[in-house]
Amino acid sequence: MTAPTPRPGILDITPYVGGKSSAGDAGRTIKLSSNESPLGPSPRAVEAYRAAGATLHRYPDGGATALREALAAQHGLDPARIVCGNGSDELLALLTRAYAGPGDEVLYSEYGFLVYPIAARSAGATPVAAPERDLRMDVDALLERAGERTRVVFIANPNNPTGDYLPATEVARLRAGLPETTLLVIDAAYAEYVGARDYDDGAALVAAHDNVVMTRTFSKIHGLAALRLGWAYCPASVADVLNRIRGPFNVTAPALAAGVAALADRAHRDAARRHNDRWLPWLSAALSRLGLDARPSVGNFVLVRFPTGPGRDADAANAFLMARGIVPRTMREYRLPDSLRITVGLEDEMRAVVDALAEFMS
Ligand code: PMP
Repeated sequence: MTAPTPRPGILDITPYVGGKSSAGDAGRTIKLSSNESPLGPSPRAVEAYRAAGATLHRYPDGGATALREALAAQHGLDPARIVCGNGSDELLALLTRAYAGPGDEVLYSEYGFLVYPIAARSAGATPVAAPERDLRMDVDALLERAGERTRVVFIANPNNPTGDYLPATEVARLRAGLPETTLLVIDAAYAEYVGARDYDDGAALVAAHDNVVMTRTFSKIHGLAALRLGWAYCPASVADVLNRIRGPFNVTAPALAAGVAALADRAHRDAARRHNDRWLPWLSAALSRLGLDARPSVGNFVLVRFPTGPGRDADAANAFLMARGIVPRTMREYRLPDSLRITVGLEDEMRAVVDALAEFMS
C-alpha cells in the first residue's frame, strides 16, 4: 500500500497527554492536574471576552497591537519585540521549527516540560536531554551536552513538573557558555508566582543578547488557559522570523480582548499570587508531615514522591484520590512514575487533598 508518509521523526512523537479533567463518577471534581488558577480569570477579562462575541465575523488584529502595547507598558519592554501566540506552546513550536531541523539538536533538561521533545521531533530535529541531579536543572550538564549541532536550548524557569528554578546568575552562565548562534529559550510560564530574590524572568537577558527569547503565558496566573494566549519577548531578528512563519491570525479576537483586560486587572493577579503564597507552603508542609517527599517548588504546584510498594505507591495514591473526586497529574509521561503533581487549588480543595492523603498513608 502506498499512502502519504510524514517526515522522519513525526511518528516517534509520543502525543502530549494533558492532566485529566474529571474523576469519573465520583461526584464533585477537584481538578488539580493542570496548574490552572483556582481563582479563575479576572471578571474584567470574562466581560471583554463576552463583548468580543458581538464581532465574531471580523478577523482579529493579526498584529495583536493593543495586547503587545499593554504588555510592553506593564513589563517595560519594546512592543516591536513581542510576538503573541496561540498559547506559549505555539511559540515554543514555532521557535523550534524556525531554528532547528533535520540533523540539528534541541537541548533541554531531563525533567523539563514535555512539549520540548515534541517540538524538536516535529521539526525533524533530535531532542537531547541533559541529566538532572536530584530533580534539579544542572547548567554544567546542559553546557556539556551543548555541541555544534545544538540549535535551540529550552529551560522552563521555573520548571514544570519539578518546581525547581535556576537563579538569574545560573541562567546567565548558561547563556554565556553557549555559542552566539544557539538560541536559548527561557520558558517563564510560572514567573509571576516566584518570590525568590535571586530569580528573574529572563527579560533582561533578552534585552542584552541576540540569542535569548523569553516566553510567557496567560494560562497560569491570569487564569485564561481555555483561550490559548501566550507571548514571547525576542531579539528583533527573532521577532521578525516568528512573524514570518506564524499564522496571520494565530491569536483569536476574544483572547486578545481578554488578555488586555486581564493585564489591566492587577488586583486580580495580585490576589492569585497571594493565594499561592499562602497555600503552596501550606500544601508542601502538610504533605511533608504525612511523610511524603514534597519537592520544594516556586510554582503553583508541588511534585510529590510516594513510597514504593503495592498499595502505597503513586499509582495507588492516584486511584485513591480519583475515587474521591480529586484529580492529580500522573507523572509516568515525565518518567517520574513514583510521583504525582498537585496544583495549588482553593482552600477547601487543599484541605480535601491533604485529608485524603492522610487517610491513604494511615
Ligand atoms: N511552559 C510550561 C513550563 C508549562 O507548564 C506550560 C503549561 N503546561 C506551558 C509552557 C504552555 O502554556 P500555554 O497554555 O501558554 O500553551
